[in-house]
Amino acid sequence: MKSVKLIHRPSVYLVGRPSLDEGELARFLRDHDIPDWKSDTSISAEILPEVAGRVCYMSFAKPRPGGNQAYISRIREVKHGSVFEHSVWNFLITGVSRSFTHELVRHRAGFGYSQLSQRYVDESVADFVEPDCIANDPELHEVWQGAVRQAQEAYVKLVSGLQEKFASVEDKTLRRKLARQAARSVLPNATETKIFVTANARALRHFIELRCSEHAEVEIRAVAAQMLEILQREAPSIFGDYEWVDLSDGTRAATTPHSKV
Ligand SMILES: Cc1cc2nc3c(=O)[nH]c(=O)nc-3n(C[C@H](O)[C@H](O)[C@H](O)COP(=O)(O)OP(=O)(O)OC[C@H]3O[C@@H](n4cnc5c(N)ncnc54)[C@H](O)[C@@H]3O)c2cc1C
Repeated sequence: MKSVKLIHRPSVYLVGRPSLDEGELARFLRDHDIPDWKSDTSISAEILPEVAGRVCYMSFAKPRPGGNQAYISRIREVKHGSVFEHSVWNFLITGVSRSFTHELVRHRAGFGYSQLSQRYVDESVADFVEPDCIANDPELHEVWQGAVRQAQEAYVKLVSGLQEKFASVEDKTLRRKLARQAARSVLPNATETKIFVTANARALRHFIELRCSEHAEVEIRAVAAQMLEILQREAPSIFGDYEWVDLSDGTRAATTPHSKV
């Protein structure tokens, strides 16, 4: 049996971001006799909600002073958060446990998910995500590693036994699926998984508020913190109001005065 590979840090990849079609926006503005309007930001993710908000009152001709940042800030203040739904990002998150994804997928509104399938993918070579508080304690680490190894060994034996049990199933892919979907029941929450996540700015703000909070579980907070760091670079007007807080255990949380816009 190969040695169990352990993971201690999640990886967050930003693989997609909002993209404004400037030509089409210009055509709309010309068609409505407001050809001179221009946002003062070049960031699509910030322009799209501004345009969406201005369409509500057709307030392009006499924009309030302060530009995009002030406009977005006002939207947060008055909780006109639906205009934030127009900016959407795509993330690939890896090096995370099934416990993490179970918590993540509870976030429904404004989120889309595609996760690695334990019915199709062979988990006999899976990695495992170890919590720091266990990894830092040699005795607990041994207990945890032994349990994980035992589960993985049981999985391998079960897949093999089940494939024999389903030997009469001609389709090889189906046979494997039948074996893996039953054998996975012994895999622990710590099993590493990968998930593709698409979410809009409003949903992301709510997720970060709940999951980057000091009360959130450590692993999901670490992912939420990475996502917030990325989003603060991507769209500072929308995500710049979060403040980082250093916690006594060396990790970080974030807070915002603008709860659930
Ligand atoms: C610290 C912490 C501890 C937790 N502990 C537990 C636990 O012990 N057990 C447990 O089961 N869960 C637990 N949860 C998960 C929690 O109950 C939520 O399922 C999760 O945080 C998603 O939040 P949400 O429903 O607000 O988000 P989303 O599903 O993204 O929804 C966003 C918002 O849309 C609205 N909305 C979405 N769906 C509906 C709907 N069907 N009807 C009406 N309004 C809707 C609500 O206003 C909601 O807040 C915990 C969460 C946190 C942050």
